[in-house]
Amino acid sequence: MQARRFGASGRDVSVIGQGTWYIEHAERAVAVAALRGGLDHGLTHIDTAEMYGSGQAETIVGEAIAGRRDEVFLVSKVLPSNASKVGTRRALEASLKRLKTDRLDCYLLHWRGQYKLSETIEAFEDLKEEGKILSWGVSNFDEEDLAEAMAIAGRGKIACNQVLYHLGERAIEHGVIPWCRQHDIAVVAYSPFGHSGFPARNSKGGYVLADIAKAHGASLHQVALAFLIRHPSVFAIPKAARLMHVEENAKAMNVELSKDDIARLEEAFPLGVRPRSLPMI
Ligand code: NAP
Repeated sequence: MQARRFGASGRDVSVIGQGTWYIEHAERAVAVAALRGGLDHGLTHIDTAEMYGSGQAETIVGEAIAGRRDEVFLVSKVLPSNASKVGTRRALEASLKRLKTDRLDCYLLHWRGQYKLSETIEAFEDLKEEGKILSWGVSNFDEEDLAEAMAIAGRGKIACNQVLYHLGERAIEHGVIPWCRQHDIAVVAYSPFGHSGFPARNSKGGYVLADIAKAHGASLHQVALAFLIRHPSVFAIPKAARLMHVEENAKAMNVELSKDDIARLEEAFPLGVRPRSLPMI
């Protein structure tokens, strides 16, 4: 499975994309090459944010997508502290400049902050009308936040909700994934490898991962991604500054886990009880 419909955006988007948080820590040419290599391998969904490296990640993305803008489903995010009606517009203009483009495919509110949701949504709708963003979404929203946003915007407006989701943190399975599926909102799994906490090979879960990976001729990371995208509305955006990693992640789109594999992974990485608030990093 290479692409699926991205909620209200109505677009088909690569199920696995590319994150860019801390990508500026890599040598610039290496990071640019990794992102471009990702595009070559079908990882055309690129996720960035004004926050990442205080704009540096966006400039790296801008360099990577130069001459290839039409291949990319480009997503960036406004910081909550900028998400007033005028602030959102100002933040978008700055992001577009750094990205050297005239539009985003999707613009997200990074998390909820001090401004009223209605203000940010109004700004998103205006920018959409002007063609500066083609769709908009949210991030780190639980079902209550989503219901509030939908009450303001109406059905069919919120393209996605980007949330924390990896083998060790499955909280969104309790309510967010079903809610989003019911309302045609794409779920984008961030930190799909646990940011910096991927299961150790010699841990209980690591043994199960390794066993399944071996049976599929795949890597542990590929199995981890295949597990997340088993839901029909879920996308994943691993960050990889190394071309080798990017190529490996792209091939995860061809790993088809069996029901038995999924049951074993669900047991090895238990869902846990429903937390009182949505986990985020
Ligand atoms: P992540 O994707 O879970 O993990 C990134 C780490 O995994 C990097 O150290 C990377 O190494 C390594 N890696 C990538 N592919 C690998 C592979 N095939 N084998 C082994 N290691 C591999 O962490 P993340 O950056 O936190 O999350 C991904 C993206 O989600 C972010 O970059 C960002 O775009 C987004 N995000 C959004 C939010 C939000 O609030 N909306 C929060 C967090 C993250 P190399 O870089 O050395 O290749």
